[in-house]
Amino acid sequence: MKPLIKISHLYHSCVVVETDRSVMLFDAFFEPPHLTREALLEKLEMISKPVTYFVTHGHGDHFTRDIFERDFQIKTGVRYILSSDVTEMSDPEVSLLEAYTLAPHESLELEDLSIQSFGSTDQGVSYLVQDKVDNVLFFHSGDLNWWHWNSFSPEEQEQEKIDYLREITELRKTLERKNSTLDFAFVPVDPRLEEHFALAANYFLDTIPVKKLIPIHFRDHFSVTEAFKEQRKDPERVIEIPHGHYTTTV
Ligand SMILES: [Zn+2]
Repeated sequence: MKPLIKISHLYHSCVVVETDRSVMLFDAFFEPPHLTREALLEKLEMISKPVTYFVTHGHGDHFTRDIFERDFQIKTGVRYILSSDVTEMSDPEVSLLEAYTLAPHESLELEDLSIQSFGSTDQGVSYLVQDKVDNVLFFHSGDLNWWHWNSFSPEEQEQEKIDYLREITELRKTLERKNSTLDFAFVPVDPRLEEHFALAANYFLDTIPVKKLIPIHFRDHFSVTEAFKEQRKDPERVIEIPHGHYTTTV
């Protein structure tokens, strides 16, 4: 039997995956009043397990340097999984921390985690993470999205499609080789893409074996998750985040 895994959506693409023995925190940044430094520190204080910070890329809505500060290095221990663009722009002190850097299409083997990076359609990486102790497999997209902007030319729109499908095909092949199904995936559902907001999430669900899809990257437009759930009609797999916070166990 699989142990219980607690997933919390904090805001935008910042999510927490908590197993019996550790916590993985993705794409922490601050945007008051929705996600503040104080609120995140408070949350970390309540954690009595080691924390692994993951950063998919250095954009302001996915990364804050504050995570390298002493306040965020909680007693139970921290380590950092960083995309190569973040490492490049970070202060020298980061080299003193337990930090690992991944460019797209690399892998990292830690005692408890196997991490594979995939590309992004914007900047940095996306992460396939296997927790070897708790036997859970999941994916965080970062900014890997089907960016079909209405303002783009047909050629640009086609290129966005090609780029997105290429990475998802890579992910599909990797899962096929492992003969594995994702327990859950965090995938952008961005309302700024207007009627195309769910292109990536729909394609992901159609292509990738995944038990639950948790929408990300919609700031405080929580209703977009409801709209997607209604449109997709797959209540078993599509998660709605009605008030910004979502916690479940898998
Ligand atoms: Zn973003």
